[in-house]
Amino acid sequence: MLRPMTRFEAARIRGIQQSDIRKQSRRCAEVSGVNLGQGICDQPVPDVVKAAAKAAVDGDESIYSKYEGIDALRRAIAGKMADYNGLPCDPDTEVMVTAGSTGGFVAAVLSFIEPGDEVLLISPFYGYHMNILRMAQPTLRSVTLRGDDFALDHDELRAAFSPRTKAVVVNTPSNPCGKVFGRDDLAVIAELCCEHDALAITDEIYEYILYDGHRHLSLATLPGMRERTITLSGFSKTYNMTGWRLGYAVAAPELAARMGVVSDLVYICAPTPLQHGVLAAFDLPASYYEDLARDYDRKRAMILDACGAAGLRPLVPQGAYYLMADVTGAGFTDGREACETLLEGCGVAAVPGASFYVDPADGKTQLRLCFAKQFDDLERAREGIARLPDARRGAARA
Ligand code: GLN
Repeated sequence: MLRPMTRFEAARIRGIQQSDIRKQSRRCAEVSGVNLGQGICDQPVPDVVKAAAKAAVDGDESIYSKYEGIDALRRAIAGKMADYNGLPCDPDTEVMVTAGSTGGFVAAVLSFIEPGDEVLLISPFYGYHMNILRMAQPTLRSVTLRGDDFALDHDELRAAFSPRTKAVVVNTPSNPCGKVFGRDDLAVIAELCCEHDALAITDEIYEYILYDGHRHLSLATLPGMRERTITLSGFSKTYNMTGWRLGYAVAAPELAARMGVVSDLVYICAPTPLQHGVLAAFDLPASYYEDLARDYDRKRAMILDACGAAGLRPLVPQGAYYLMADVTGAGFTDGREACETLLEGCGVAAVPGASFYVDPADGKTQLRLCFAKQFDDLERAREGIARLPDARRGAARA
């Protein structure tokens, strides 16, 4: 008898499955639903960026770039890091263009994390952070944000650090809960990283999407953090180009050099013509970013409204373009069941909250909705979500 094909499987991928995020997209396509599951961000790329990418293709900018990216783009990123993040950096030694911010995360993990290390995650987290880490086989520890405002308990955080802590992963604004970490939380994270000589890997990809006056703060700007923080960001969310796979990492020269060697081995470089294309984004006026934030504010309001009408209790995000909602008020005891009814009965995909926690029980009654969609899609989603109470009664009768 044949043994299952999994006999070939390496220990580093044992138990890792296709993410619920992607699973929901496939299922959503099957029922031609509105996809508020995976954050695909299907909105138009700015015209100037498209034109610059087309010109780069036509101009045969089609060979490998340096593994750290084209010079002009690294210089532009360094300018943005100084202006927006308050983090001046050397474009030649401290900036690396990566294959999406995920490419930067993979490079950081492969470069610095190994079995025996402890890595600290903050739940709810972006599942790719956990699963990429699992491939490097560290011991994962987690602290869970609690309450409707996803508060970080500083004592719990302190207790989760140990002499073996190699790194902490911070995602601000957070996917999935929209938490924007303020100076009080970041100062404690910084103090603990310094005390334990640990790295920080911060994913700041949603840095321009902020609500209610919240401000983005980069952990690397806090005392003692510059030399131990790998700051990841990218273009996917700000310019609606999740499929272009363009991100970047900023880190001290010694760290950036190691990550550069690793990303060269994994994928050589980010797509060269697209690097030339995105360069044009740096000429967009300040109003582009204001419009982006204002549109997302309206989109958030639409989905908050829709949730309220269906008995889903939204946990209001401070940033990013997702919101988590508690499903118990809508008559469900489990977020998975609510996602099922929402998709099958209302044609709207969402992601079960349990997929964002180390202990799935913590997110059992939650689901995540993504509102990075065009207004007419969100209108359709709003109509679908409004049918949830009826769909639940229908499902209960069946
Ligand atoms: N960041 C997006 C999300 O959380 C997309 C993730 C993905 O497709 N891997 O939904």
